Amino acid sequence: MKKVRTGILQRIVSRLGDAIFPAVCECCGRSLVDGEEILCLHCLHDLPRTNYHKDSFNELHKRLAAPKVPIEHAASMFHYIKDSRFALLVQRAKYNNRPIIIRHLARIFAKELNDDHFFDDINLILPIPLHWRKKLKRGFNQSEEIAKSISEISEIKYGDNLKARPHSTQTRKNAIERAANMEGTIYICNSDELAGLHVLIVDDVMTTGATILTAAKAILKASPSTRISVLTLASSKQL
Ligand SMILES: [Zn+2]
Repeated sequence: MKKVRTGILQRIVSRLGDAIFPAVCECCGRSLVDGEEILCLHCLHDLPRTNYHKDSFNELHKRLAAPKVPIEHAASMFHYIKDSRFALLVQRAKYNNRPIIIRHLARIFAKELNDDHFFDDINLILPIPLHWRKKLKRGFNQSEEIAKSISEISEIKYGDNLKARPHSTQTRKNAIERAANMEGTIYICNSDELAGLHVLIVDDVMTTGATILTAAKAILKASPSTRISVLTLASSKQL
């Protein structure tokens, strides 16, 4: 009985809160209506979807093509178009301490991929690591937040076998500079746990693919029998 009363009270407090501070779309600022959460239906509808996962050899595969680094499946929810409201949304999630935005988007995407059997063969989710100093400063690792949401929907466990060494920022570097900057910055802390598994590397935004390739190479070096697929929330159209 006490539990029921607490639940009712929480709902009343939440409704009062909504009346005083109405929830707004994180993307366009419009007031959310019943049934909408984090983003309004207009923004969700306008999200520039890639649908890459429906194509077995898609744009991400091409970008990740590297000798001896086979990528099985690659998926990305939407195109990251510089200065678009959706790119700014990812930036806000990351730098304005709003991980709830990327968690919400990742859950929506994971539900769709689940229905399309994308996760059927995958055993473990591995988020791209953030060096602990950066994580401490930001308060969270965006890739880990996405991985948690995907794990929740797909019921595939996520691990922390990928670890980061410090490196300078990738921003304003071209593809070759990014690859050189990333070399050796990701390593595996327990290769035995990866043997024979099909792992899903998860990141927030893929640009040239240098970060994901660094992680994939580190995995295959430590555990050659591991198979690799990739999922990012967004992927840049600019190379
Ligand atoms: Zn909106």
